[in-house]
Amino acid sequence: MKILVINTGSSSIKYKLFDMDYHHKVMASGIVEKIGEDTSFLIHRRALSDGSGFDEKTEEGLIADHYEAMSCIVDLLVDSEHGSIKDKKEISAVGHRVVHGGEAFHSPTIIKKAVIKAIEKNIPLAPLHNPSNLIGIKVAGLTFPDTLQVAVFDTAFHQTMPMKAFLYALPLEMYKKNGIRRYGFHGTSHAYIAERAADYMEQPLAELNLITIHLGNGASMAAIKEGKCVDTTMGMTPLAGLVMGTRSGDIDPALPLFIADHFGMSLKDIDRLLNNDSGLKGLCGSNDMREVIDKKDAGDDRAKIALEIYAYRIKKYIGAYFAVLGNLDAVVFTAGIGENAPYIRELCCSGLNGLGIEIDSKRNNMIGNGIREISSPGSKAKILIIPTDEELKIAQETKRVIEK
Ligand code: ADP
Repeated sequence: MKILVINTGSSSIKYKLFDMDYHHKVMASGIVEKIGEDTSFLIHRRALSDGSGFDEKTEEGLIADHYEAMSCIVDLLVDSEHGSIKDKKEISAVGHRVVHGGEAFHSPTIIKKAVIKAIEKNIPLAPLHNPSNLIGIKVAGLTFPDTLQVAVFDTAFHQTMPMKAFLYALPLEMYKKNGIRRYGFHGTSHAYIAERAADYMEQPLAELNLITIHLGNGASMAAIKEGKCVDTTMGMTPLAGLVMGTRSGDIDPALPLFIADHFGMSLKDIDRLLNNDSGLKGLCGSNDMREVIDKKDAGDDRAKIALEIYAYRIKKYIGAYFAVLGNLDAVVFTAGIGENAPYIRELCCSGLNGLGIEIDSKRNNMIGNGIREISSPGSKAKILIIPTDEELKIAQETKRVIEK
């Protein structure tokens, strides 16, 4: 069975074609960017049939819209010379990443008219993402008219949160009438690494209490009790919680009012300030963790304090989620920073011996691939690094749904 996974942005489409019958092999992958501009480009990678790696093809020049972008992708997938498949009909299903499922979706769903309506209804909750995801669904429907399409939601994994965790202390009508509540994001990644942790620990996920920490450009954590999410750091939008590359994470909710008053900034300006100009970038001028660490190593005090603030927030949430779970089996780090920045992992986990979380410095600093255990042998909770793979998880969920 072959499954095409698609992640559609406002001017981009990322894609991966999986062979689910052959170790979930990635047959091809790529990205189209700057759709609608003269400088559009497409990078397509195809797995070589002898398993020796990938070859890469790049195309540049105007790709007018998402439909044209999808057509280019299909042409490359079935190209007689460079193609991975002979006919687009070989693709059993298209799996879409959809950012906001609101309360309507607790699990992946085959896309029908009513599902599209429900995703449209959630546009106010994710005005930047859901419209692009809907464009992806539309153009995939036109390109693959006979193929099942499945929506996999970033929010779905967090729908098991209890009311005490997801409600804000605002007038209750705002939740009931307008859906104002905590939803959480990165659910596909948290779910994937939780499953991989259970595999690694050779225990059923339903018996494990985990704290999962996804640290990419965006960052979030989840408290997972007996396999189910009971709390997460992001809120109604992905701005809440941890310090991120350019997002502030948690702040005093009165600050936007104060800033508007004192700096004469509009709501739009404040939105940009908190989402695009804060976080690591606001604190030290760079949102790329590698650069921030390099600056700190070169003696830059602003970078040093930015990293301390970044890790301190994570550490506070580890403590909070330990209290929520009562008993902890593992802390799991993932994504660009979680997988690759030993300095950050060390800062987050240092001094947590009282909670039974002890990091082994030597293991933490070893370079490696795949799943790694970096806790000391005496640590009550394991500390794991597990590479995330959101596309694979979307492909697996898509397969599961269409086989039901
Ligand atoms: P996205 O959320 O866009 O998928 P990623 O998961 O790729 O992001 O994470 C991007 C972040 O990971 C960037 O801040 C980048 O600097 C950081 N990162 C990648 N490699 C390393 C590394 N070797 N050391 C420290 N940080 C890294």
